[in-house]
Amino acid sequence: MAKINLKALSKQELESFIKESGLPAFRAKQLLHWIYERHVRSISDITELSKDLRERLEGKAYISNLAMLDRRTSVDGTEKFLFGLEDSESIESVLIPDKDRLTLCISSQAGCAMVCRFCLTGAMGFRRNLQPHEISDQIIAVGRLIGPRKITNIVFMGMGEPLANFDNVVEALRRITGQMKISPNRITLSTSGIAPKITELAVKAPKVKLAVSLNATTDAVRDYIMPVNRKWPLKALMEACRNFPLPARSRVTFEYVLLKGVNDTPDDAKRLVGLLKGIPSKVNVIPFNPYPGSEFKRPDEKSVMGFQNILLNAHMTAIIRKSKGQDISAACGQLKARYL
Ligand code: SF4
Repeated sequence: MAKINLKALSKQELESFIKESGLPAFRAKQLLHWIYERHVRSISDITELSKDLRERLEGKAYISNLAMLDRRTSVDGTEKFLFGLEDSESIESVLIPDKDRLTLCISSQAGCAMVCRFCLTGAMGFRRNLQPHEISDQIIAVGRLIGPRKITNIVFMGMGEPLANFDNVVEALRRITGQMKISPNRITLSTSGIAPKITELAVKAPKVKLAVSLNATTDAVRDYIMPVNRKWPLKALMEACRNFPLPARSRVTFEYVLLKGVNDTPDDAKRLVGLLKGIPSKVNVIPFNPYPGSEFKRPDEKSVMGFQNILLNAHMTAIIRKSKGQDISAACGQLKARYL
């Protein structure tokens, strides 16, 4: 009989496994603590259990671990990790230091089916959804590799569209906020704009922060650069954002990748002000970082500043974000592309 991966079990499933194994309920608590807080690699490392019990459990169960295939560090301190999964698929996670923060950007799918035109992951295509433990395990694996430093924030902005893997992402969020005890305030989920799932997220998941990769102010442009817009156009997306329940003093983050001659005009900036009216929000303006073969160009400094100024003059919070880790293929999907 194939062994059971304890990390693949939800809290309830692990409790049932312990019960069916004829063990008292507190053993499940011990296992959860050692797996999610002490980050053990195997059952034999759980020294709180007797040697006999560890051997008995190892006869029918194991704890999976992500395999690190590649690790690179940028001159700006950004670190990229490429991890192998049990079926030989691979995913990437990116660690971004910023003042007193250490943010880990994690993947929710191997590849992505959303085919945003400015994204290399989109160009690589969709492989499969990640299981909940493959999502939360990125935090455990990177945490082990960077000790004694501690990850302070989590963003779902790596490979994949989190809301297209909804149930597994919600279960991963339960584990991250429950078993791993990371505050939902420190977690941001970024979506390309699956409007009905934004609404569902507010009901079913722990109360994490929301980011939306917006990148256009008209349906015509957004249809072209982000095909998700053909199904859920700007009106539906803005409505879902407007109704998303935010914790006090919290805002929705809108990411806006500036593509030269496509979405970077003063009229775009003015339309953006109108679109975000009534939504507590901040805008991250990200000048596009071209990669070999990309069809888009980076706008010049003057148009970036001009775009930002229109937002600032309308009393919006607008921050220009520089792409980090460019020297080690920073943007979404580039580490994997390099590895392949
Ligand atoms: S930007 Fe995000 S949603 Fe769009 S293709 Fe890339 S990974 Fe997928």
